[in-house]
This record gives sequence, structure tokens and C-alpha cells, in this order.
Amino acid sequence: MSILIVDDTKSVRALIEFYLRSDGHQALHHAESAAQALELLGVGVPGAAANGWDLVLMDIVMPAGIDGIEACRRIKADPGCGHLPVIMVTSDLAEATLEAAFAAGAMDFIEKPLRRVELLARVRSALRLKAETDTRAQRERELLVMTRTLEETNRKLNLSNELLLRMSVTDPLTGVANRRSLEDILVRETARARRSAAPLSLVMADIDCFKQYNDTYGHLAGDACLGAVAAALGTTLRRSCDLLARYGGEEFAAVIPDTDLDGALRVAQMMREAVRGLGLPHASSQVADVVTASFGVATRTPDNALDARALVAAADRALYAAKSAGRDRVAAHQD
Ligand code: GH3
Ligand code: MG
Ligand code: MG
Repeated sequence: MSILIVDDTKSVRALIEFYLRSDGHQALHHAESAAQALELLGVGVPGAAANGWDLVLMDIVMPAGIDGIEACRRIKADPGCGHLPVIMVTSDLAEATLEAAFAAGAMDFIEKPLRRVELLARVRSALRLKAETDTRAQRERELLVMTRTLEETNRKLNLSNELLLRMSVTDPLTGVANRRSLEDILVRETARARRSAAPLSLVMADIDCFKQYNDTYGHLAGDACLGAVAAALGTTLRRSCDLLARYGGEEFAAVIPDTDLDGALRVAQMMREAVRGLGLPHASSQVADVVTASFGVATRTPDNALDARALVAAADRALYAAKSAGRDRVAAHQD
């Protein structure tokens, strides 16, 4: 622990050093003026934190330049040295002097002429306090680092959780909801429709002659076609409660809450036109020279009271009817 002894009288410095050495203190340095002390401590030098210094023993009355009280004030005001304890060493015990010394930030004072026991006791307690303060500051720094690391880990965890959640509900090829989330939402929406006695519609869509499309243009082109069709279907759903999902293969389903059969048929017609409107060439289709799709619509009303499973079955039957009737069309489920 480094101690700086500041006194203009060489014999005083030597005596202090002698006493301190007798108590086992090793790293002792001298300054013969306040100016020299400030320079050694690096006061006023930006970035020169008083690393390595632990205590300053400061004479008050020094003839050359500034006195010990002013030097103490400058040390305590310095961002790098402010934490350094300063003990005044003085023969001037006038109340005004001591008051000025404490006001300047001195932590203690030692009376001249020096007494060994008093000097060592005060130095020991100052050094103990300094060590405790340093330990606490170090722990606070470590805590800060730990908190930052924890926050960063948490942020990453939240991100990957979000990603996982999105992956678990999304169809990777088309980016629309997957079959699993369709089933969840259908159950939720049929329950809600039952409670509020509101209609709930389901539109099932199936691309026409898609097997031939794959055979003609290849599987990769088929994938791209699925993505384009999903996007086209999505543009017709305007309300935030509407949901488009990939049901499987080249089949899609749209859940349209608070919508009766007429409304759902209109949506399905818009979907049919949107798919046709893509203008994707389909040379081997039996229906048209572009990609088309067929649609089956079913609506749950308070009267027919279909549950989620029955609603899907009904829309599926309607879709089958649309296929049988020649494809590229919309059919409704009739009880
Ligand atoms: P229909 O007009 O009666 O609907 O005939 P279709 O050929 O469209 O129907 P079918 O059920 O006979 O064939 C569906 C095809 O969809 C067969 C399958 O290879 C293709 N398919 C299913 N999933 C994918 C996919 O993820 N990517 C691609 N490229 N093709 C798929
Ligand atoms: Mg199919
Ligand atoms: Mg098909």
C-alpha cells in the first residue's frame, strides 16, 4: 500500500518514514511541497487515476506555493484522486484550521510533534477504510459487468424464444400459418362464435391440377407457385382476425370470423380471382392456361352449430363439389 508523505521539512519526512517502516509499511514516497505532491498523484492530469496510491499524509503549513489545505481540496476535487484519504499532519490545532482542513476533505489529522502510536493507529485505520472502499468499488464494478452480461443473455434468449415460437406456428415454405396453428385458432374461434352467437366461416382452397404443374415445371417451380398463391390468397384477407394457413400440400384454409356464408363466398370469389390474376402459366392444366384454384366454403351459424372438426369437413365437402363441377370455382356447403 503506497503512502505519500508531504512535508517541507526533511527531518519530519524521515521521522514519519521511520515510524511507518517500523510498522511494516514498505511503499513510502516523499514530496517536499504541495505542488510536487499534486504532480506525483497526477492531480489535474485527465485520465491519470491515482492508481497505486492509498494514503496521503499532508503537512498544512508549507512556505513554498500552496498550503496543505488547498492541496487537500484539489486532491479531493480531482476525479481520479477524490477517493484517496488525506490525513493532515499539523502543529496548528486552532479550531479554524481544523475546520478548514475537514471542509477541504481531510479524513483525519495527526498532531505534531509526532507520536509513534498515534501516527500508526491513524494510518492503520485509514488504510483499512481505503481497502474496504476499494473492495466495495471492485464488487460494484463486477456486479455491473454481471448485470450487463445477464441482460445480454436475456435479450438473446428472448430473441431465440420469439424465433422458436414463430417457427412453431409458421409454414416455412409459404410463410403463412401452419396446420397446427390453424387447428388451435379454429378451436378458439368456434368457441368464441358459440359464445357470441356470431357466424364463423372457413374457406378451403386447393390448387387445380398441381400434380401436372410439378410434372411440367419441376418441384422447385411448384414450391415458388405455392408461395405466390399463398401471397395472393393473403391479399384478400383484410381484417386482423382473419387467418390464412397452409392446410397441407397445395391446400390452404382461411378462417374468417364474424362473417356469414354470403360474405365468405365473396371472399372466396376474390381469392379465386387473385390466384387467376397471378397469371402463372400452366400449360398442362385441364382448366385454364394459367394456375387456378378451387374453393369450398362452410359457415358455422347458431343454427347449424358446427364444431371445428365438422366445419373443416363441411368446407372440404364443398371443395370436393367445386372440383367435381369443373374446378376454378367456388362451392358452398349445404346442410
Ligand atoms: P386437383 O386439381 O384435383 O386438385 O389435382 P392436383 O394435381 O392438384 O391434386 P393431387 O392431390 O393429385 O396432387 C397434389 C400435388 O401437390 C402432388 C404433390 O406432389 C404436390 N405437392 C404437395 N406439396 C407440395 C410442395 O410442398 N411442393 C411442391 N412443389 N409440390 C407439392
Ligand atoms: Mg389436394
Ligand atoms: Mg389440387
